Amino acid sequence: MGSGAIQGSILWWSRGHRSHHRYTDTDLDPYGAHTGLVWAHIGWMIVKPRRKPGPVDTVDLKKNKFVQFQQKYYVPMILFWGLVFPTLVAGLGWGDWKGGFFFAGITRLVMVHHSTFCINSLAHYLGEASFDAKHSPRDNIITAFATFGEGYHNFHHEFPMDFRNAVKWYQYDPTKWFIWSMSKLGLASNLKIFPDNEVKKGRLAMTLQKLRADEEKLVFAKSPKDLPVLSWDDFVTESKTRPLVVIHGFIHDVSNFMDNHPGGRALVASRIGKDATVAFEGGIYEHSNAAHNMLSMMRVGVLSGGYAPPKVWPMMSANAPQDTSSSVPEMTSASSSESDTSEMDSPHPIRVSTIDAPKFEKSSSEQKDVCIDALSYIPPGETYHIEKRRELGTNIKLNNTKYGKLY
Ligand SMILES: [Zn+2]
Ligand SMILES: [Zn+2]
Repeated sequence: MGSGAIQGSILWWSRGHRSHHRYTDTDLDPYGAHTGLVWAHIGWMIVKPRRKPGPVDTVDLKKNKFVQFQQKYYVPMILFWGLVFPTLVAGLGWGDWKGGFFFAGITRLVMVHHSTFCINSLAHYLGEASFDAKHSPRDNIITAFATFGEGYHNFHHEFPMDFRNAVKWYQYDPTKWFIWSMSKLGLASNLKIFPDNEVKKGRLAMTLQKLRADEEKLVFAKSPKDLPVLSWDDFVTESKTRPLVVIHGFIHDVSNFMDNHPGGRALVASRIGKDATVAFEGGIYEHSNAAHNMLSMMRVGVLSGGYAPPKVWPMMSANAPQDTSSSVPEMTSASSSESDTSEMDSPHPIRVSTIDAPKFEKSSSEQKDVCIDALSYIPPGETYHIEKRRELGTNIKLNNTKYGKLY
């Protein structure tokens, strides 16, 4: 009965269809969309193509008895099911022989042919690549209406074994509904569905591709690789000639921003020549993502060492375990003698530049080398003890000071 569509034998149709999938958008694709809309729609049918469709495996079809039968009696079958049968139905049914021939026969054929042709033409031009943009198939609701649901063609090419074209319940796909209904009646079997997880991966890949394209239109902060590296002392000197602030180890020029700072010019001005990381990160106000983005655009350099050098040596040797297997090495005589006293209580804290400090102190024992910078690390700049983010008020109240508990 399917012969009534007069779209070629099952074997011929399937061979072309398999070729179309295997060689999409190449000269071996019998309806290659790359050759133009008119050729993909009808040109390939009415003009003899220069090349044969690319080779595909049709052994399964050739073995099928039903396919063989239709191939053998193709001409009588199309004449009967395509023209005689509709004429008979209208003629014997309600006496309209002419109407049966012209409308149910010829007009229907023209409509169904163009609807099918639209899958090769429109469905490869109109709409979006929802799952893969490598080839021309597209998903579009207009094409879906013109082709009984085949307009979700990007899905069909990406997951060809799936009996559906549209995956969402609200998308127009009467062909899928028909096949599904037939399976419920026991008239269709072996319906295949591509794993949902893989379908979602395709959609995700395309979403990411779109996001990346959007990202490329934006200007982002300079990479540390493209910025000069300054020592703390150079930064302090330079900040006397222009407003520079260190935050997150980056040196920022805030000259064009100071007057626009929502928290007031004075707050920014008070941090010039200083490490304001903690203040920026919530010591006073928890800055928004937009503030972080804007700040990054003001980068002019990278601070060597990444943070303000500690003002004092931290407590180390006094509390260091005496066990020789400890990974903490002995300090050099000069610094260990300093460390043995309590620096925190010293009336004259020693300012040590981490940049100029020797990188490694080797001990004579089997202990591992430890970077002295790591041992001497204390948090940068002014450090506030914040019990929880956004709870500075509680901190102030608990510790009964203007700034809360300070290190
Ligand atoms: Zn197909
Ligand atoms: Zn296609």
